Amino acid sequence: MPQQSPLDLPEGDPFGPHNLPYGVYTKTGEERRRIGVRLGAHVLDAGAAATALGSAHAGPLSAPSLNPLLAAGRPVWSEVRAELASWVTDPAHRATVEPLFTPLDEVTLHLPYEVADYVDFYASEHHATNVGRIFRPDGEPLTPNWKHLPIGYHGRSGTIVVSGTEVVRPSGQRKAPTDPAPVFGPSVKLDIEAEVGFVVGTPSEHGRPVPLGSFEDHVFGLFLLNDWSARDLQAWEYVPLGPFLGKSFATSVSAWVTPLEALDAARTAPPARDFPLLPYLDDADARPGGFDLRITVQINGQEVAAPPFATMYWTAAQQLAHMTVNGASLRTGDVYGSGTVSGPETDQRGSLLELTWNGRDAIELTDGKRTFLEDGDTVTLTAWAPGPDGTRIGLGEVSGRIAPAV
Ligand code: MN
Repeated sequence: MPQQSPLDLPEGDPFGPHNLPYGVYTKTGEERRRIGVRLGAHVLDAGAAATALGSAHAGPLSAPSLNPLLAAGRPVWSEVRAELASWVTDPAHRATVEPLFTPLDEVTLHLPYEVADYVDFYASEHHATNVGRIFRPDGEPLTPNWKHLPIGYHGRSGTIVVSGTEVVRPSGQRKAPTDPAPVFGPSVKLDIEAEVGFVVGTPSEHGRPVPLGSFEDHVFGLFLLNDWSARDLQAWEYVPLGPFLGKSFATSVSAWVTPLEALDAARTAPPARDFPLLPYLDDADARPGGFDLRITVQINGQEVAAPPFATMYWTAAQQLAHMTVNGASLRTGDVYGSGTVSGPETDQRGSLLELTWNGRDAIELTDGKRTFLEDGDTVTLTAWAPGPDGTRIGLGEVSGRIAPAV
């Protein structure tokens, strides 16, 4: 049987020419890192295609990471995306680009950008309400600031790892309220947080806030992110300065970055606001800042939740405006996480903390019950979004397996 061309995709493929996410790969048996663009189950060598077709952007596309392309800015991002779409659809380019594809099962995918700073937010009202009820059952679930500013913290950029990287169970201090003293050992409440990450391309000047309306000038694209969390460590350490060792051991990101332009048809208005927002966060007259991403959470291949990103109270544009409003600058490669995505329904919760109500209600998997993660468990996040003309845009998965504590 003749080999099917990588350019001839099955109808409805969520990684068709309307998507074109970026990654960085090496071919099996080679050392050289190349920028790749995914089409179906193949990856196109974007630098080789740009060189062969005389693109003005062959330079950044031939780099070993996405950072030069990220730094190039929105006009270049749009030009490159239009070129790529033409290279993979115009019959005139077929003979040139066809040999430049490699099947995905013959490549290793790498962290596609060099991470600069990392911030994680707390932007789902349903998640924040659930967590408030679990940890502060006698108080108001939402803190008084919650609907006035997007709450966040600075995380550890050096432990952001690409999908497929094993996650070693962290050890640390924990102390239940009834324990007489803290103990040290491997976390017994290892959890996930299903999130969406955003990567900054264009930097900003130190001392100059980035307004809400400049989101698309600075942010290149988005991807699935799993903010692994040790709930027992977190519960003992988090007052008064917030998350620390309970989250800094690993954060997994997809190997594929979906450019914002691929998600034009997925833009959606965030939920109605309960309070007037201060002007720098007021998005009433802005382009809809939400994204209709349908996420699924799987443990060992079995779906346990389907969090809807469209329900997030705070948008990525508001988060960007807030984290720079004090003059903090952006750098190419800055990553920020949306916060755990949880919808209003019990099967839409993006953490085991919520799905099991802090271990009270175990969930049933075919290989046994779970409250929190066990060694050997593999957690995979997938998602899709509405694309143009009734198509679907697939997001690259993020997956990680738990290795025993050292
Ligand atoms: Mn988080």
